[in-house]
Amino acid sequence: MKKFKKETIAAKAGIGSDIHHGSIVPPLYLSSNFKYEELGKEQEYEYTRETNPSRDHLINALTDLEDGVGGEILSSGMAAITLVANILNINSKVILPHDCYGGTHRLFLSLSEKGILDAYFINQGEESFCEKTISEINPDLIWVETPSNPLLQSVDIKKISKEAKACDALVAVDNTFLSPSLQNPLKLGADIVMHSTTKYINGHSDVIGGALITNDHEILSKLKFWANALGITGSPFDSYLTLRGLRTLSIRMEKHEKNAAAIVELLSAHPKIDKVYYPGLPSHPSHAIAKKQQSGFGGMLSFEILDDLAGVENFIEGMNIIPLAASLGGFESLVSHPYTMTHGNLTPNQKKEVGISERLIRISAGLENTQDLLEAVNLGLKKI
Ligand SMILES: *Cc1c(COP(=O)(O)O)cnc(C)c1O
Repeated sequence: MKKFKKETIAAKAGIGSDIHHGSIVPPLYLSSNFKYEELGKEQEYEYTRETNPSRDHLINALTDLEDGVGGEILSSGMAAITLVANILNINSKVILPHDCYGGTHRLFLSLSEKGILDAYFINQGEESFCEKTISEINPDLIWVETPSNPLLQSVDIKKISKEAKACDALVAVDNTFLSPSLQNPLKLGADIVMHSTTKYINGHSDVIGGALITNDHEILSKLKFWANALGITGSPFDSYLTLRGLRTLSIRMEKHEKNAAAIVELLSAHPKIDKVYYPGLPSHPSHAIAKKQQSGFGGMLSFEILDDLAGVENFIEGMNIIPLAASLGGFESLVSHPYTMTHGNLTPNQKKEVGISERLIRISAGLENTQDLLEAVNLGLKKI
């Protein structure tokens, strides 16, 4: 079958699946169970915890977008990460980024402390990581998250995957920050790609969800088995809403990026701003690698102001249309303060190690009018 481009895949997903009435939008199957056609004969849909047509519409669309052979939709991004942890054997060695998502850090550290696996939190951007560390540890799984939150540092998925193959390790990539629109880890050598669909894929800030896609049939059957065994698959209604969001993913990503770039330009030239972190800037340490492995720089940015915590508070209060809130990737622009929010659980020393200062502010650029957004940021800057 012809492989369509991403916008077309998202627009066409599930269309033509209603054989009864020809509805254009695929119907929502809320039913928890399905009638058996014949005693003792297995069928595609029996019980919604295991399989459901509405969930399948979303799985199929994401599988096409990520170029995999299949996947699973889970009840949250963390449920997706939990599922990957569960396909590992006991005492597996897992390497994770030292600055990974807080929930990922909490989960793997706790599993490690319970003696279920060994977690190694390492700076994967260092030269020695691929050259030495991977073969020294000889891991079973390398968890990659690129670009990182909130400093947008990227690591080379292709290079890491190559080293991982040499020691038979799986590579799973958290692709939440870019979405399948801007980065496709399976094409770069990864075995599993993970999304918190809560963010860009749904994009409307009204669903908590997760997804895993793989290009390996053996991994896929393990994922399906454990998703059902653990009971963490996503609900049909959430899957329906998420597919609705996915339809407009490409065009939203373009506007997110346009708005982020405009804010970056304003901040970069401003006397009250110290550093700006955005991979689209040639001065960003990950500019070259981002340019190589991504098809865009995304809608996230962060920066340090030339003031203290009170200045941060004034800036945030001064912006009229950008609320202070957790999460990212929605239609609405959001501001957050990593030091007290996403990274609040780290010790001051750990924060210093991953580069999170008190003066650091993160913005998820939404879909508002660009001039209105710039005005909001200017209002904030006046209060610093
Ligand atoms: C939000 C997020 C997660 C967790 O997803 P939930 O849907 O909140 O469970 C994992 N990784 C990254 C990068 C995230 O931003």
